[in-house]
Parts: sequence; C-alpha cells; structure tokens
Amino acid sequence: MTARILVVDDMPTNVKLLEARLMAEYFQVLTASNGEDAIALCESGQCDMVLLDVMMPGIDGFEVCKRLKANPETAHLPIVMVTALDQPEDRIKGLEAGADDFLTKPVNDLALVTRVKSLVRLKMLTDDLRLRASNGDELAMDHYQVVDEVNASKHRPNIIVVDDKAASYEKMVSTLSVQNNVEVETNATDALFRIVEGQYDLAIISLNMSNFDSLRLCSHLRSLERTRVLPIVVIAGMDQEEVVSRAMEIGVNDYIKSPIDTQELLARLKTQLCRKRYNDCLRASVQQTIEMAVKDPLTELHNRRYFEMHFTSLFDKSVASKKPLTAIMCDIDKFKAVNDTHGHDVGDAVIIEVANRIRKSVRNVDIACRYGGEEFAIIMPDTDIEYANVVAERIRREVAEHPVIAESGSKQIYTTISMGLSSLELEDDTPKQLLKRADVALYAAKNAGRNKVMTEAA
Ligand code: GH3
Ligand code: MG
Ligand code: MG
Repeated sequence: MTARILVVDDMPTNVKLLEARLMAEYFQVLTASNGEDAIALCESGQCDMVLLDVMMPGIDGFEVCKRLKANPETAHLPIVMVTALDQPEDRIKGLEAGADDFLTKPVNDLALVTRVKSLVRLKMLTDDLRLRASNGDELAMDHYQVVDEVNASKHRPNIIVVDDKAASYEKMVSTLSVQNNVEVETNATDALFRIVEGQYDLAIISLNMSNFDSLRLCSHLRSLERTRVLPIVVIAGMDQEEVVSRAMEIGVNDYIKSPIDTQELLARLKTQLCRKRYNDCLRASVQQTIEMAVKDPLTELHNRRYFEMHFTSLFDKSVASKKPLTAIMCDIDKFKAVNDTHGHDVGDAVIIEVANRIRKSVRNVDIACRYGGEEFAIIMPDTDIEYANVVAERIRREVAEHPVIAESGSKQIYTTISMGLSSLELEDDTPKQLLKRADVALYAAKNAGRNKVMTEAA
C-alpha cells in the first residue's frame, strides 16, 4: 500500500524529518513550504493525503484545511494537522476546520505511521466507492455539507461503549448522552453479539478490559459483513502505544488516550460520524448505479440488457433439466393514438400502469422486462404454454377491463395489449428462435384484431 503524501511546513527541518520517516515506510513524499503551494498541489491531483502544519506565514494551516475541505475536488483528501504540543485547543480547531486527524510536535513515530496508514486505507476505500458511483458529480458534496447534514439530521447517533470500568465510562457516557443515544456493555463477550444485532452508528471500545483481549473483538467486528464498516474508536492508556498500533492495523478507525479530553472525544466522534454518513451516501449511490444498469427508469421493470443477460442462462438451465420454459412478447395496441390524443406524459403513464399490472401477475422467478418503447417481454421458467396462457390472459384482461387513471384522476384511458407466446421445443431450439416465434405469435394477435393472446409452435 503506497500513497503520495504531501508534507506542508514552513520550516525546512520539519519537512526533512517527516519526509525521512515517511519514505522509510515507502510512501512517496511531496513537499510545500506554504499554504498557496499546498492548495495548488492538491488541486492538481498529485497527492493522496496531506500533513499540514498549523503555524505558517500567509494563510495558516486552518485556512488551508478549510479551503481544501470546501472544494469538492479536494474535500476527500485526508488532512492531518500537525500542532504544537502546548496548544491543545489547536487540535479541536483543526478537527472543526475539517481535518481528519492531528499529530502533535515533536511527532511520535508510531502515531505518524499508524494515523497515516489508517487514513490512506480509508481514502482508498472512499476512492473506490467514488469511482463506482457513476453519478459521482452529484456526490461531490464537500465536507461542510456533510457536517451540516449530520447536524441538521433528526437522527440521534446510536453509540455503544464497551468498557467494564465504571470510573472510565461514566463521565464519557454523561458527556456523550447530550447528543447521542448511548448504551454501555460491560461484558466483552456479549458485546460482539449485541453490536452485530444492533443498529449502532459507532462503537467505542476500551483496550483495558479485565481478562479480555479487546483487539479480538475489534478484529471480529471488522471481519463480519454487518459490522465491516462500523466506525470503531478505541480508548487506550498512556502506555499502550503498541496495542494502539495493532488496533489500527486491524482496521480500527481512531483512538483516543485516557484520561480523555472531552472536547477531543466529541470532535473525533463527529469526524467519524460524518465520514460514515459520507460513505453511506457513496455506498447507496453505488447500489443505485448498479440498479440503473439493469432497470428501466420509467417502469422500474428490468431493462432489455438485464433480460438478455439472464434469458440465455435460464434457457440453458431449462434445456439441461428438461423443464419447460415459456416466453411472452407483449405490445400495447394502437399506442401511437394514445400519444397523439392525450400527449406523451399520458402515454408514459399508460406504459407505467401496464408494467405494474404485468409485475403483479408474474412470479419472482419470472423475468419481466421493458423490451422497447411500449413492448414488454416475460420469461417464465418451469412453465408450460398452457399455464403461461392462463397468466397472459389474466394480464390481458387486467389491462382491458380497467382504465388507466392519468392526470390526477381527470383522465381515464382505456387501452389493450396483444401478446404472443412460445415455449421451449425439445430439439435444436435456441433463445433467438424462441423469441422469434413469440414475436410471430404477437403479430398474429395484432392481425387477428388485437387485444388477444396467441401462441406459436415451431
Ligand atoms: P400497434 O397496435 O400496431 O402496436 O400500434 P402502435 O401505435 O402501438 O404501434 P407503433 O409501434 O407504431 O407505435 C408505438 C409508439 O409508441 C410510437 C412511439 O412514439 C411510442 N413510444 C415509444 N416509447 C415511448 C415512451 O417511452 N413514451 C411514450 N409516451 N411513447 C412511446
Ligand atoms: Mg403497439
Ligand atoms: Mg410497438
């Protein structure tokens, strides 16, 4: 896992130090000595992550961070603020400016490497999702939009705290309860089950449980489908650097050291919740993209592409298992007249309603699709032509007997459909021939006066 890290600092010695440490971990390093150059490098797409000094002449680190996070082109770049140890309020300010993390000077090696690796991993995941969401443009919301959305959302985040020491969790729970629903689980073995079963937005796990290896719980959560992307923040003691480093390797999202600084805790949790929200949106959009590729947007039936992808395999399965298979081609009668008389929108409403009636009459195993403009195709596995004929008749009647209600009830459109059926033949049949025969049957139905179901044998 390599990545291009931009180190921004006005002091050349600081830059050299960080550069050397990162290069020892095989990261590629770019450098900038002021805010303007840093922004330009980020905008040109040359880096994957930024280590940003706070105190710089000209525009300072907070301002650079704000500008990068407000620009949809650069908002997804992880930013780590590098703050002075004696300025704890800078960390909070940094997180509020949209920084993803912070490090204090002098930079601790372990903290540097674990934070950078964890953010690089997160960025790769996010990049992958962004790439797969084809309507990525709409998703180019900036950091502040996500924060606003999370703030405005009526949803109170559900947080589970796994800790068996009251002295450690009580104060945290009272702080967090102001804005979140907080539950505590003191039994580490029950925690896994409870988290997997529950609807949590985030888990806080203590690394100091009696007689229990918390890392095991973290690694379990990372391996299960249900909790793979659940944000996990671990609470570590001052001397637990080694454990923290392993936790980050397992895929824990963040850590905080006890005694806990309340402001820091709140800011870190906010960052995690926003990130989760952003990734949830991306994931939903990927899902939508996948659906769009196989669905007809007007009717929400499958599209012809999906139909063609699956028809052949259903056909082959039926041949192999010597089971029947029937195809139905269906076309709305005199549809041009509907458009000409009532307009295209009413025409669309008729297509949608015919699709709905088809959908209601077929089983889950059947494939119903919009084949073209006002044409539909249905494949019914395990169904002979007699039974398919009964289904087709039912659909035909459903369409003929009930008008389509359009324009908020002001119009009632009576319409009919014609249908052609054909079944898999015993010898030398092909998917193409089967559809062709159904099409011939459809035209026979049209010629016989429409509003009819006809069948065609080979
Ligand atoms: P027939 O009974 O012989 O099938 O006559 P028809 O008028 O239905 O047949 P034709 O194929 O000539 O006309 C189909 C019309 O469907 C032409 C086209 O403008 C219209 N059409 C195709 N797609 C859509 C659509 O998505 N929405 C609307 N409103 N009309 C569409
Ligand atoms: Mg037609
Ligand atoms: Mg047609």
